[in-house]
Amino acid sequence: QKYEKSLEKTRKTFGMRFNEFLANFRTVDEEFFEDLEDTLIMSDVGADLAMTISQELRQEAKLANAKSQDALRQLIVEKIVDKFDEDKLPSELNVQAGLSVFLFVGVNGVGKTTTIGKLAARYQKEGKKVLLAAADTFRAGAIDQLVEWGKRANVPVVTKAAGSDPASVVFDAMQKAKAENVDILLIDTAGRLQNKDNLMKELEKIGKIIKRELPEAPHETILAVDATTGQNAIQQAKEFSQVTPITGIALTKLDGSAKGGIVLSIVQSLKIPVKLIGLGEQVDDLQDFDEEFFVRGLFK
Ligand code: GDP
Repeated sequence: QKYEKSLEKTRKTFGMRFNEFLANFRTVDEEFFEDLEDTLIMSDVGADLAMTISQELRQEAKLANAKSQDALRQLIVEKIVDKFDEDKLPSELNVQAGLSVFLFVGVNGVGKTTTIGKLAARYQKEGKKVLLAAADTFRAGAIDQLVEWGKRANVPVVTKAAGSDPASVVFDAMQKAKAENVDILLIDTAGRLQNKDNLMKELEKIGKIIKRELPEAPHETILAVDATTGQNAIQQAKEFSQVTPITGIALTKLDGSAKGGIVLSIVQSLKIPVKLIGLGEQVDDLQDFDEEFFVRGLFK
């Protein structure tokens, strides 16, 4: 229910535009496909994907034979759902038996710390032993904020003074996690994209420390991006992918965004699965991402 409400903004714009497009439908001709493409682009689906979808639909006789708006709608929705399925990207977080280490990256303000806090509360509730690491030592505020979330979720946080070496925070956290049989370690990092070389070096160093302690970790490197920024979120995802391999995306602030269509664009252009979606500022405003449910929801 909450999920439905949170996506209202996206659905309103996405769905309305699409309904309008269908209402204008006369025949399935070249103009129809051009309008479909425009409609999808306006809904932040991204130009490439919009073109692919309309191109593939052009070649399907089913569409030309469709007699009603409903039949057309269904065929188009199926096509989009299929596009998602094509790459078989894993949408579930890679939780292992024993210690699972998730690294979080993303620029300031996108909702990285909030996502960690929500996830910590979720795992804690499930009875897992959770530990947080405040490896964004660049800003004192970031450390305080994570500590605050730790209190809220009743989960300990490994911290050092602002300005400390982030890798040393990660080292301490890995030691503690192993010594205390922690199930889930969530690591917050500083996302200064302005200085890509430094960021890359910092993340490499953190990665090395993690691997020295647990060779198969990190089990996830999650990039948080803000849905309200639309195509900018995709740009950030592209840039971060060049800095470090990203295994999943947390798309935040979908509740305040009319640009939910970028989910499709992100997955298609980057081949990185969206694994989490943020639907508000509260502790339980986090959902696993279900692409089929999401796509069908957009067209309701
Ligand atoms: P960080 O700098 O990336 O760690 O970002 P924060 O976690 O501090 O979040 C920045 C702001 O966005 C805060 O005011 C959060 O409450 C807010 N925020 C985070 N996630 C969401 C979300 O899913 N929905 C809404 N509406 N606000 C969010």
